[in-house]
This record gives sequence, C-alpha cells and structure tokens, in this order.
Amino acid sequence: FENEFTWGRAISQNTTDEFHEKFEKAVDDAKKEFGKKYPLIINGQEIYSDETFFVTSPSDSQITIGEFSKATISDTNDAISSAKNAFEIWSNTSYLKRAEIFRECADYFSSRKFFLTAIMTFENGKNRFEAMGDVDEAIDFMRFYAFQLEKNKGFYKQTSHPNPREKTQTIMKPYGVWGIIAPFNFPSAIAIGMTTGALITGNTAVLKPASTAPLSSFYFVNFLFSKIPNGAINFVTGSGSTLGKTLIESKDVDGIAFTGSREVGMQGFQEFTKTTTKPFISEMGGKNPAIVTKNADLDKASEGVMNAAFGFGGQKCSACSRVYVHNDVADQFISKIVEKTKKLRIGMPWQKDVFLGPVINNDAKIKFENAVNLAKQDGEILTGGIVLNSSELEKGYFVEPTIVTKLPEDHKLVKEELFLPFLCIQRYDTLDDAIKLANQTEYGLTAGIFSNDEKQLEEFFSKIQAGVVYANRFASATTAALVSSQPFVGWKNSGSTGKGAGGENYLQQFMRSQTQTRCD
Ligand code: GLU
Repeated sequence: FENEFTWGRAISQNTTDEFHEKFEKAVDDAKKEFGKKYPLIINGQEIYSDETFFVTSPSDSQITIGEFSKATISDTNDAISSAKNAFEIWSNTSYLKRAEIFRECADYFSSRKFFLTAIMTFENGKNRFEAMGDVDEAIDFMRFYAFQLEKNKGFYKQTSHPNPREKTQTIMKPYGVWGIIAPFNFPSAIAIGMTTGALITGNTAVLKPASTAPLSSFYFVNFLFSKIPNGAINFVTGSGSTLGKTLIESKDVDGIAFTGSREVGMQGFQEFTKTTTKPFISEMGGKNPAIVTKNADLDKASEGVMNAAFGFGGQKCSACSRVYVHNDVADQFISKIVEKTKKLRIGMPWQKDVFLGPVINNDAKIKFENAVNLAKQDGEILTGGIVLNSSELEKGYFVEPTIVTKLPEDHKLVKEELFLPFLCIQRYDTLDDAIKLANQTEYGLTAGIFSNDEKQLEEFFSKIQAGVVYANRFASATTAALVSSQPFVGWKNSGSTGKGAGGENYLQQFMRSQTQTRCD
C-alpha cells in the first residue's frame, strides 16, 4: 500500500524546474476559473441560491475567487433530509465499491494536483509547497481509508463461542447522517479527510466548508456527487454560525466531525451531546511547545522551530507557538532564529520563493495587532510586530513573523492559541521544568524536542502530554504529520476522541459495532 502514497509533504520540498513550470502553467489555468458562480449541492442537484457571497483572496481583495451560494437554514435542513433518505442505499452499497469510488476520486485529484494547488495559493494564501502538501494529504487520506476498509474486510469479523450452537459475528455499521464542519487552513486535506471518513464507512454527509475557503472542497464534492446516490454527499456554503448551528441542533444528524477553534468546538460538543450520546469527533487546535536543550544542534533547531512557527503564518493547529530554550544556549538560539526569520520572504503566495503569504482575513490581522500591543506592553519583541502596508501588499492581510520573549509564563499570549505567525520564546533550567511548562496548557496536540541525549528524549516521550510528538525534526519541529505514518491526534482540549486522522483507528469512529448471534 505504501507505494500508493504521494508522501506529499516530504517530496514537495525537493522541487525541480519541472515542478515550477507545471505550477506556473496551473496558475494561468486557475486564474481562468476565478469569479465564477458556485452552487450548493443538495440531493444530487446543483442549486444556485439568490443570495450569494464573494470569496476574495486574502492576498489581494481585488481577486475574487468565486461567488458562492448562501445556504439558508431551510437549505441546510433539505440537505440533512436528503442525506437521511440516501442512507439506506449508500450504506448498503458494498464496501469494496465504496473504496473503489474514493480511489477514483484520489486519482482524479492526483491528475489535477497542480491546478488544485494553484487554486489554493490564491484561496487561503498557502505557498506552493504547503498547498501541494495539502492536496497530497487529501489524496493520501482517500487512498489510506480505502485501504483500511479493504484490509478490515468492511469491518466484519466472525467470533467464536464455547457453545457451538451460538454462531456470532461482529460488524461495524455506519450511524447515519454526518455533519462535517471544516476549517480554512487545510481546505483540501481536512475537509476531504473528514468527509471521506464519514462516507467511505457507509454514512451520508452534509459538508460545510469554511466560508473563507470553500472552493478546494467544492472540486471534491463536484467530482463525487454524480458517482454516489443522490443526497449521499451534500455541500452547503454560507454563514458558519447559522449552518453549523443548524447541523448541530438537528435531530436528524447522527454524528459531527469538526475541525476548528476550541471555542466553537466546545460549544458544538456541548450542544450536540446535551441530550444524546451521539459521536462528536473534534480536532481543536493547540499551543504547541518545542524544547531546545543545551546539547541541541542550534542551527537546525532554530530552522525547525522557525518553519513550524511561521509556515502558513502559524495557521496550523500543529504550529509551534512556544519554544522553551535552555538558559545556557538561549541567547545563541535567539540570535540564530531572529536572523533566519528576518530573511523569510513575504509576498504573494503563488510567487516562486515566497515563504509567507497573508493571514486569512481582517479579523486575523486585528488579532495580530492586538497581540503585538500586548507583547510590547508585557514582554519584548525581538523581530516582527508590523502589519505590512507597502503598495504591493496593501490589498491583502500581510503581517511580519513575530518573535516575543520575556513574557510571564501565565501570560495570555503564552497560553492561548493565536493561529498567527507569533512565537513566544521562554527560558528554562532543567528538562523536568521545561516539560512541566510545556504541559501547562489545556491543549495537547503536538510537541517537539531538540536534543542529542537519548536519556532526555526518553524523558520527553514519557512525560509530554500531547498526541503527536517529535524529536529532532529539523525541517518542521511540530508540524507536517504524514498520513498513515503519523496519525494526527489531539489530547486534552485539542481533541475529543483520542483517535488520529490518518491512523488505523480513525474510521471506526464513524461506525458502531453490532454483535449478531444466531443459535441453531
Ligand atoms: N496535520 C497537520 C500537521 O501535521 C496540521 C493539521 C491542522 O492544522 O489541523 O501539520
């Protein structure tokens, strides 16, 4: 199976002239698509609603990505009913057929990879490598889940019983209708990963993508909906609070898969499970720490932390936002990371050699300004802190990657997830202290350590409270988990189920086990 992988993120950093040429050509193709009108997809029909909203590029508000239909509460309820009606036929479609359809979809995404990558650089501001990693991850999710379904024979198993009269089998069965609430930061990988999890296991779904980045997942639904029964997949775009609330409050929705902020996730979780035990799968961010010990390779550690803190502007749940550096090497580490950060190229994310594009919207820019003001007041800014307003960048939401130090450990900027290119550097004396500080957070998603001492690595792995933990990951410190190899799972308030996306336990969450016994 591993031969089927794109292993996208690993490969896409090693680019060739051919990669860049194909990408440039895809940018031209992508531009031809901009400004089109996009429908809702409900019950197998494309529905263009009267009310629409415009999605513009965070890099340049004059680039209209598309005009999207604004679903009403009643549209969303129609989507839910059509998913409910489609459940019987889709859940009775053989698991092999379901797996085959998602493999086909993965092949389609593979064949359009450069185009989809180019679209994403405009849509949410990822640079070309990060955007391709996102599309590659979506492809890997589809193939990996198809493989899991086949490997587990549709999750059917015969069991034995001491009484020979009792013939027993267990079978995992889908729940029904799932609401999928997806984020802007991985509009391909996460939206498609969650939706595939629900559908491939025989559930039907209503997908609500982020209203800032709906186009990437539209291509997925647009390919899929004609291949599966009408109503098995529905696509609704519009106000997050209205549509999300409708999905969460509906008695006909049997499960929710959510990725997004902790605040929205917790509210949704509480509401959805208030009176029932229905499953709510969530991934809700982090305040991910990295620890730099005194024997670490500081050049490499500073590179890794910088990439993890500022890759896609810190807008990944896995981003590193706190680094604990041993006192003896803190000054050296700081001078290295500051020097490297100052050299990062900021600009239009589809342009070659650009590392950092914009943050997603004006709210994020304002949040950045507020964080900078607080940092100035209570700590010291080592680099960054500026909103970029040059004539080239003024139509987008560009901010400088920012490093802050000397903040008290219990400061809001050290504790709360910002989802911005904003890194706090803290100091420590003993590894035990560093791990305690790293763990002093309500989150537990990713964490990293840089050390050449095996004993320290063991101590870190045994004590750190996070779902995805890395040692000496020089390219990306706490980010860039690969499907199948590194299941992505949040502990504590970072996630609700403890089962990782892209891991062997993921699909089971979309099903419940039935034990069937016949006595003859
Ligand atoms: N899986 C991604 C990574 O490992 C992060 C996903 C997220 O931001 O939610 O970097």
